[in-house]
Amino acid sequence: MIVDAEKLAQFQKAIIEYWQTHGRHHLPWRMTADAWRILLAEVLLRKTTSAQAAEVYIQLADFTPQHIKEMDQHILAEMLKPLGIYQVRAAQLQRIASDVVEHGEAALGSDEFLRKLPGVGRYISNAVRCCAFGVPAPAMDTNMIRVMARIFGWHSALKRPREDRSLWKRAETLVPADKPREFNWGVLDFGAVVCTYRKPKCNICPVSSICIYYETAYLPMSGSL
Ligand code: SF4
Repeated sequence: MIVDAEKLAQFQKAIIEYWQTHGRHHLPWRMTADAWRILLAEVLLRKTTSAQAAEVYIQLADFTPQHIKEMDQHILAEMLKPLGIYQVRAAQLQRIASDVVEHGEAALGSDEFLRKLPGVGRYISNAVRCCAFGVPAPAMDTNMIRVMARIFGWHSALKRPREDRSLWKRAETLVPADKPREFNWGVLDFGAVVCTYRKPKCNICPVSSICIYYETAYLPMSGSL
């Protein structure tokens, strides 16, 4: 299902404006276009908060893949401790660093290469390729899934919507070619702050006029997302 061009343009514009005005510009991995650092941040961000990940990221951001590969795994694990599952994370990060050293950092522009790395799926691959190389690939996390369901009525039949190929295909149609980073960051922040899982702030929402959920929210048959 392709979105009507006018609705799509309105959505993209509103999300990019949201990013420009309210986006979390201070997150350190949003201040770089370095593919290794962005990949590092995405690995750190799994199953933790951005505030916790930021503290660890700042300590590790200047280490090259070679440094991480050669680091004593216990020392690396200690640095990763605040994030939880730190031993697994340390081993995984060293395996990733080792593959990057072997193939060169230019390989981080390849979806195929990225998705062979341990713990790296479509989301991380898209986030790295978009933020480092400007590829208009959607960073479809739970926030984007929720926003798409509410605004466009796109629901997945799968238990894990992040594994739904057709939903990924639909998400791809939303990302503007000229501002893919800003769009992805905007959706993420908009979903985390305005279109929240519980009690979305529809009264201050800049896209309520095109939102299916908003239109139907007060009808008896409307469902909760
Ligand atoms: Fe989300 Fe409400 Fe905005 Fe729709 S109107 S996008 S449900 S915050």
